[in-house]
Amino acid sequence: MRIYLSRPHMSGHEEARVAEAFASNFVAPIGPQLDAFEVRVAEYLGGGLHCVALSSGSAALHLALRIAGVGSGDEVWISSMTFAGGIFPLNYMGARPRFFDLNPARWTLDVDLVEEQIELAAREGRLPRAILPTELYGQSAAIDRLESLAAHYDVRLIVDSAESLGASMEGDRKAGTGGDASILSFNGNKIITTSGGGMLVTRHREWADQARFLATQARDPAPHYEHSTFGYNYRLSNICAAIGLGQMEVLDTRVVRRREIFARYHAALTQPGVEFMPEPEALYSTRWLTALTIDPEQTGVTREDVRLMLLDYQIEARPLWKPMHMQPLFAGAPYHGSGVDERMFADGLCLPSGSDMTDDQQDEVIERILAILGK
Ligand SMILES: *Cc1c(COP(=O)(O)O)cnc(C)c1O
Repeated sequence: MRIYLSRPHMSGHEEARVAEAFASNFVAPIGPQLDAFEVRVAEYLGGGLHCVALSSGSAALHLALRIAGVGSGDEVWISSMTFAGGIFPLNYMGARPRFFDLNPARWTLDVDLVEEQIELAAREGRLPRAILPTELYGQSAAIDRLESLAAHYDVRLIVDSAESLGASMEGDRKAGTGGDASILSFNGNKIITTSGGGMLVTRHREWADQARFLATQARDPAPHYEHSTFGYNYRLSNICAAIGLGQMEVLDTRVVRRREIFARYHAALTQPGVEFMPEPEALYSTRWLTALTIDPEQTGVTREDVRLMLLDYQIEARPLWKPMHMQPLFAGAPYHGSGVDERMFADGLCLPSGSDMTDDQQDEVIERILAILGK
């Protein structure tokens, strides 16, 4: 049987909730499960936050950018190493990315670089409209520092927490609580899933109200359809929310399992030339995907050798995200950094990490990798 990178993992708590949604005929993007799912996530994240359930994480980011006032030609400062869905909404808005490297100790947006550049930009009167750090592979960005910078320069902070629901950061603060808004994803391959879905989490009530308004075709109060602006069809189906309610029951145990998988890989595969994604002490990552780098000089094999060998055995592994400043789509966009992300892309690999993977399956992955490493 094929071993996948990260598959949907149902818990047994979902079907009864979906059945309730059916029984009450709330099968469209409105209903008690949808309301309850938003409340449940807000409670999990811990106080003072508003949640709006949406059809995807990308939709959540699109709305966040729109509400932040990101317009055509505005700059958004973003970690270059990210996933398509975490940046394409900039293109929808006609915004321009300025790319930043990763901090090698954390594998998230290098805040020293951002600080250096934002001082310069402020002096030259060309501040970005928003800063958008990605919480790569489930590790929180340096949110406290980014929040102070954003407040100091009066720019919006939107955090891409699509991979980090269930993680926590300095001060035991949960991932997904940062900035003006954070976005979550419940895509099939994430920590928990609604089959497909996302969420906007914000501390501003007006942002949440605005997100609900824009996500339901921007209908002004009137008996007929009255529009003073354009909107989107972005709400999450009540049926999908019912799945999400079931999945919330197991969120923490899913994270524990992903971390256990990481720990087993780490114990078995650590050797000169093989380096795992670090986790600074104050952080608790979801370890959404186990990410490591393989130095070809020290190990005698490239990450592609390893990936293709695994594929021969029906085991799915994947290179790390290709930095966006290296993508043809963003050719010529400004980039600040020393190529930490470029080297990570060259040597980096994500191993099968689904919470439903068995120990036997993982042992097979480990054996195959040890064999090619010659150990
Ligand atoms: C999954 C993901 C998204 C987008 O979420 P979708 O629900 O797939 O639209 C955005 N950013 C990152 C980093 C992701 O991993």
